[in-house]
Amino acid sequence: MAYPKLIEKLMEQFAKLPGVGRRSAERMAFWILNHPREEAQELADSILKLKDGLRFCRICNNLSDTEICLICSDTNRDEGTVCVVEDPKDVFAIERTGSYRGHYHVLLGTIAPAEGRGPEDLKIPQLLNRISSTQIREVVIATDADNEGEMTALYLTKQLKSTGVKISRIGLGIPVGSSLEFADMSTLSMSLKARRPIGSLGEEIQE
Ligand code: ZN
Repeated sequence: MAYPKLIEKLMEQFAKLPGVGRRSAERMAFWILNHPREEAQELADSILKLKDGLRFCRICNNLSDTEICLICSDTNRDEGTVCVVEDPKDVFAIERTGSYRGHYHVLLGTIAPAEGRGPEDLKIPQLLNRISSTQIREVVIATDADNEGEMTALYLTKQLKSTGVKISRIGLGIPVGSSLEFADMSTLSMSLKARRPIGSLGEEIQE
């Protein structure tokens, strides 16, 4: 016997979520059915509030529910160091290591010619602006260790050279081709500490 349409519909929605198969979707739908209306309401509200209320920080493009994110507004952090990452998820990955106390700049993507994404689609002008208008001394490039991440790092290096800031690149321990967010905490932490000045790296990639 098929489920009533309303259950079937909710199961279809849950099954769209990453990692949720039909069996889990079924369990979730029945969980909702068996719990008070308020709990369903709370879940529905949270989903919509996230969609409507979350935005990108005006300074660093990290996800935030305020105009300026918690990291940018934290006066105990080192304003002179900015770690450049591809995605807000990378900020959370680095924060979990607890070994970085500087600021961030989220590019919201990478240079990916195959997908029609060029530097103009990234938040690079905003970064250059920050460098010229604040006391940034060092930029740590923490894009992924895959082709797109390396291409983006190389482009950034060229753009940043004339600004005179110290440029470094994380790398040690992050497997080539891999994504930052999946690196384990100690690897990521080591990788940040062992960042290399970019001069030699720029030449390496250009070969
Ligand atoms: Zn911010």
